[in-house]
This record gives sequence, structure tokens and C-alpha cells, in this order.
Amino acid sequence: MRLSRAFLPTLKETPAEAQIASHRLMLRAGMIRQEAAGLYAWLPLGWRVLQKVTQIVREEQDAAGAQEILMPTIQPAELWRESGRYDDYGKEMLRIRDRHEREMLYGPTNEEMVTDLFRAYAKSYRDLPRNLYHIQWKFRDEVRPRFGVMRGREFLMKDAYSFDLDKEGAVRSYRQMFVAYLRTFARMGLKAIPMVADTGPIGGNLSHEFIILAETGESQVFLHRDLLDYDVMGQAVDYQGDLSPIVDFWTSRYAATDEKHDEAAWAAVPAEAQVTARGIEIGHIFYFGTKYSAPMGLQVTGPDGALVTPEMGSYGIGVSRLVGAIIEASHDEAGIVWPDAVAPYAASILNLKPGDAACDAVSERVYEALGRDALLDDRADRPGAKFADADLMGLPWQAIIGPRGAAAGKVELKRRATGERLELPVEEAIARLR
Ligand code: ATP
Ligand code: MG
Ligand code: MG
Ligand code: MG
Repeated sequence: MRLSRAFLPTLKETPAEAQIASHRLMLRAGMIRQEAAGLYAWLPLGWRVLQKVTQIVREEQDAAGAQEILMPTIQPAELWRESGRYDDYGKEMLRIRDRHEREMLYGPTNEEMVTDLFRAYAKSYRDLPRNLYHIQWKFRDEVRPRFGVMRGREFLMKDAYSFDLDKEGAVRSYRQMFVAYLRTFARMGLKAIPMVADTGPIGGNLSHEFIILAETGESQVFLHRDLLDYDVMGQAVDYQGDLSPIVDFWTSRYAATDEKHDEAAWAAVPAEAQVTARGIEIGHIFYFGTKYSAPMGLQVTGPDGALVTPEMGSYGIGVSRLVGAIIEASHDEAGIVWPDAVAPYAASILNLKPGDAACDAVSERVYEALGRDALLDDRADRPGAKFADADLMGLPWQAIIGPRGAAAGKVELKRRATGERLELPVEEAIARLR
């Protein structure tokens, strides 16, 4: 994309309403625009990141054996009356009436709808196990929407739902998602720690929140230092095999949010291994047995012909929240520092002197070679403004092309994360960037 033609409205001023770095930087880098409290439009740069994050989530769900579907955002109230949650859910639920005065709602989550969908087809034990997920907008009328996309009212969630014949199967499904989550977040450059959690309005009795440490996090967390050093991507995973060694490593070390903190168990952790910090919840997994399948009448015939009520779990990831969380975990004074895997483009190409024949020729050559994975700053601005915008947008590499270097056939590469610079002949620079 050429910046001279891009819709990429960066701001020099720090927006007054933004209290935390990620919100400030997303507004300043022209990634999002607030349309109303907790409702955001995603502008081209932000939308590219959201799509990259979505794609990583999707690949890891697929790898773990979940199958993607897409359910509607609007749901009939009747389904929620079947589970008993219509009255319980409270003010976070946006309730709507259609022209026929039918009660509807904008889904805050999809346990009821997916149970209804599944019961329409599942007839026997051969239809189990299954895990269905979708990546769809949710609405929760948060009392205090804040921190930009981290606590929006409309937000993008990946939610998966597993159906198993018995508890043993449900625990296997739970472990598959547990491991898939570790890998999903690690691929985005995040250290996410599973922590024992409350089940809240979803209900049930086995649950972990996946939390990243950040000063601006909303919960206080307590964890064993070992958990920060585990190399998640260090081994291949066989999702059909026994995942308990991985899960046991994580669950045998202390990790809890303030809601579940247990002073006695904490005291047993050696003092030098105790880490207390603030954390951001980016994912949450639940096993809840027959909480929805039983009241909603989901049943299949078991191998012996008797009716069985499937055991379920649900598994959420805050996809749009992740964009903010990644920035909280990776930024500096000058702006965002994108991890390669989720960067909106691989490189900024800075033509420091548009109109200079050598600068133009080298810039166009690099831009052509990188194709659509680069942002070419071909605007008439001063170099200082270009450097500032490139640092703010935080692409992993900057290819800096000034008159002296260009005349000698050279490009200066700067790695955003480390500030490391190297000057290379044009074709070598291109090879380095590709
Ligand atoms: P929180 O404690 O932050 O309110 P939650 O526990 O209510 O989140 P869940 O019901 O567990 O949320 O939903 C699954 C995931 O959806 C959360 O782990 C979080 O990443 C994301 N999420 C929840 N609420 C919001 C929101 N208002 N804005 C953005 N993401 C959200
Ligand atoms: Mg909430
Ligand atoms: Mg929560
Ligand atoms: Mg939660």
C-alpha cells in the first residue's frame, strides 16, 4: 500500500480519552475509530491485524480438531428461556423486539444456540465427539466500556463448544482446547498463563482463564515463576494422543486470579518462585457437563441403545481484545512493536526524498519485490515525520531509502524491536525482508 493513497489517519496528538497505551496507540496509528461508547470501526491497518489474529486462532482450532461454523449474532429469546438464562443474564444482554413483537437478543455468547443446532442433528453416540466453533461479533452492554477494544460492548470472540458422550471424553476435549490455547497465544508472541477461574454465568465446575501479565490488567494474579519459562512451541503436539503431561505441568504449579486466590496454597510456593502481577484475560475455557444439554433436551442413543445426555464445554477467545493485549505486551515510547506473526505488513519502506530519481527507483524496486506486504511511504513529508509514523505503526522492519544510499545502490534496514540497523545492497535487503 502506498501511504500517499492509503486511508491511514495517524494522529500526532495523544487522544485525551485513552487511559492505556494500547488504546492510545491504536487511535494514534489510525487502527480504530470509536463510533459510540464501546463500539469501534476497524480502519484498514487495524482490520489487517484483526484478520491476522483471527487466522492464527482459526488455524489452531482446526489443528485441534474443531470445525468452523457461523451462527447469527441475533438470537431468539426462547432458546435462553429453555436454559433458564434469559432472566439470569441481566443488563449485559441487549434485548430487542422485531416487527412481530418477538423477543430477540444480540448474543453475548452461544451455548444455547449451538445446543439447539446440535440437537437437531445428533442422534447417536457415533455423532460424538464433536467440537464446533465460530468467530463472530458479540454484544455485552458493559457497565464501563473502556480501554478501547479491550473492553468494548461489541467485540469479536472465537467461541467453541464441545459435545462428548461422557465426562472422560469431555475432559479430553477440554485438554485439547487447553493446549490449542497455549499454542495460539504463543504464536502471537504472548506468554499466556492458564489460571484456575470462576465459572461465572456460564456455569460448571472446571475452568481456566488464560491471562497475560500487564500492568494495566484488570485482575490481580498470583503464579509460580516456572510457568513464565515454559517453551510452548518447543514440542509437537498430537491432539489424539495423551495431552495430560502438558496440562499437568501447568495445573501442578500455582496460578490463580484474585477471585480464586488461596492463601494457604500460595504460602506453600517458595518465596523466590512467587510472582504477583496484574493480568489481562484473553481466553477462558469451561467444562460444564450437562448444564445446557439436560434442560434443552439434547440426547443421543448410546452404544447400548439407552439415551445419553452429552457432556459439554465451551471455549472463548477475545479476538478483538487480543489486538489491544498484544500492543500492551509489545510497545515502547515511540509506538507499537508488532510481533512478526500479527504485523499488519512486514515492512515500512521510507522514501526519504520523493522526486529524487535514485530514491524513487530504489523505493519502487523494494516495494514491487515485497508486493502487498509493505507500506511505501511516498508522501511529500519531511524524513522526521516519516520516521515517527513508521515507529508509531510498528512494522517489524523499516527499509530506509535516502539520496546518498540510493545513489550507491544501498538500503538501510532497521529492525523495529531492537533498533538494530544494517546497510545492504538493494537485492540483499529485499532478500532479508522476504
Ligand atoms: P471479563 O472478565 O474481561 O469481563 P468475561 O469473563 O466476562 O471477560 P468470557 O465470558 O469468559 O468473558 O468471554 C470469553 C472471552 O471474551 C474473554 O476471555 C475475553 O477475552 C473476551 N471478552 C469478554 N468481554 C469482552 C469485552 N467486553 N470486550 C472485549 N473482549 C471481551
Ligand atoms: Mg465480563
Ligand atoms: Mg472474566
Ligand atoms: Mg471469562
